[in-house]
Amino acid sequence: MSYALIIHGGAGAQPDFDYTEQRKHLNELILTGQQLLEAGTKAVDVVDQMVSSLEASGLYVAGKGSAPNTAGVVELDASIMDGSSRAAGAVAATPNLVHPIKAARAVMDDGQHVMMSGEGAKAFAMANGLKSVNDPDAYYSEHEKHGSGGGEENGSHGTVGAVAMDLNGNLAAGTSTGGTFNKRPGRVGDTPLIGAGTWADNLVAVSCTGVGEMFIQTAAAHDVAARMRYAGTTLDVATRETLDNVKKLGGDGGLIAIDHKGHITMPYNSLGMKRAFVSSELEATVRIFEREDL
Ligand code: ASP
Repeated sequence: MSYALIIHGGAGAQPDFDYTEQRKHLNELILTGQQLLEAGTKAVDVVDQMVSSLEASGLYVAGKGSAPNTAGVVELDASIMDGSSRAAGAVAATPNLVHPIKAARAVMDDGQHVMMSGEGAKAFAMANGLKSVNDPDAYYSEHEKHGSGGGEENGSHGTVGAVAMDLNGNLAAGTSTGGTFNKRPGRVGDTPLIGAGTWADNLVAVSCTGVGEMFIQTAAAHDVAARMRYAGTTLDVATRETLDNVKKLGGDGGLIAIDHKGHITMPYNSLGMKRAFVSSELEATVRIFEREDL
């Protein structure tokens, strides 16, 4: 029986930054994910756990590592999708959560809505027992330190995400971000949009990272599935064509994807992409600037 897992810590990466901590963290986390999948944990639960750990680390632009918008508020985006049922949940522009992915998961599990935003999403998360941040300035203090592409400049960005195929062949995807640095209050990127930043069905699971506006304009995550489903394109070709279209609109970034046969791919057209993968056939591996030939 086979399984596969990819996690990412975002496409924003600076060539001269020392990512030793991120590499160590990604390595530990992918091994934890491998154990979970080998123990028979469902893909959607593994994705939830991977993204939660990435958020809590403060090492990427998501959860604790997020940066405030121009009004000084940290607004978070996240989404999760279970490919076996197409159940999905998302929160957008939601302030001061510890685990946006868990809020997205609560929306999914509740089932009444797929996407919630702002204070309403926060209130829903609190009502579901999730934690909020009491002292945002102290909690979200890591964003200048983790090398996610140019510090405080406009356009710097990062994200975290995970895609998994479990022992039953089910797929899931999840993505979480603090968004682009110096974004306007209320700005929502691709990350919480099912079909743009995140997608999972019974064919493919995708989590994107990069300049969100162009991933929205290309419906990037679902575009991969559509190319495979309607044109019979392979995972590799579909993901590269999708990213080429993002690039044509002026956006850079990358994505991680697993198809229903457990094939994996992690293309990007940014300088680097923090990522790690493992499968029943492939040893756990961490990469940032190195390319793989899978
Ligand atoms: N896609 C994210 C956003 O635009 C940022 C990133 O992935 O780096 O909010």
